[in-house]
Amino acid sequence: MERIESSEVERAIRESTEANQVHVIPASQSAIEALKKRKYHEGNSTTGCVVCLDEFLHGMEITRMPCHHIFHGECIVSWLHLKNECPLCRFQMPLDTTEI
Ligand SMILES: [Zn+2]
Ligand SMILES: [Zn+2]
Repeated sequence: MERIESSEVERAIRESTEANQVHVIPASQSAIEALKKRKYHEGNSTTGCVVCLDEFLHGMEITRMPCHHIFHGECIVSWLHLKNECPLCRFQMPLDTTEI
């Protein structure tokens, strides 16, 4: 009996993909749309967006999660389409079960 072993790398990729598929739940569209948008003011305790690692500029529009962490609107929206949690504190967005 011959058995073909997959390489170490292939195994690692497969395992991480499988692990991601188990845990990743995108946020619902209505939860994303309900996020508060506001203008960024200098002096705010958060100085930058952890998704793209860019700094916020005074007066720019940012989006605030229910956990009060703030991100660029585009950044957090694309993040939430992949993962239903805050990139900083892993706060879980409320799931809107009526949409599923
Ligand atoms: Zn960003
Ligand atoms: Zn958070």
